[in-house]
Amino acid sequence: MSCGNPHDLPCNDVAQVLLLFIDNEINALHELTQNSDFVTHEEIIDGALVPVIEINGFVFQGLSHIPTHAEIEIHFEQCPPCHDILDRESAVLTAMKARLGQSCREEAPAELQALIAAQTQALASQMASSTTSVQFSRTEITTTIIDENGAQTTIEIQSSTEFRGEFPSF
Ligand SMILES: [Zn+2]
Ligand SMILES: [Zn+2]
Repeated sequence: MSCGNPHDLPCNDVAQVLLLFIDNEINALHELTQNSDFVTHEEIIDGALVPVIEINGFVFQGLSHIPTHAEIEIHFEQCPPCHDILDRESAVLTAMKARLGQSCREEAPAELQALIAAQTQALASQMASSTTSVQFSRTEITTTIIDENGAQTTIEIQSSTEFRGEFPSF
């Protein structure tokens, strides 16, 4: 997803946190990064080592940091395609909340958090695949064989899956 404008914050980063932004949870997310639920590691994605951040069931791929609410707002001002997605996803989230009821207006219920997490992942992969195919390559099996001389041979079996997609029309 690219509009041609240069962005300090890549569209991918915006896609990964979009629904949290719409739900006004970015500041809450930053608070979560202060505690022990915040886990980072690296995965090989598309042949490159990519930072992965996991917080409370949310998984963010390729983010160097969790962007602030202000950084995301600036991106939407600069990026018409992302702004269109923002408008559309805002409507989707509003509909989801209406369906889940108005009883928990202050605190989003657990089901909503789960739905947002699932939507975020789906959206991020849709945005990534809308302009280019993304190949996820991951080592599946590692076997170490030790022969009679004690020499070790490590065999890695890799599988890769390619995702392509178009933006869904809501
Ligand atoms: Zn963008
Ligand atoms: Zn853009």
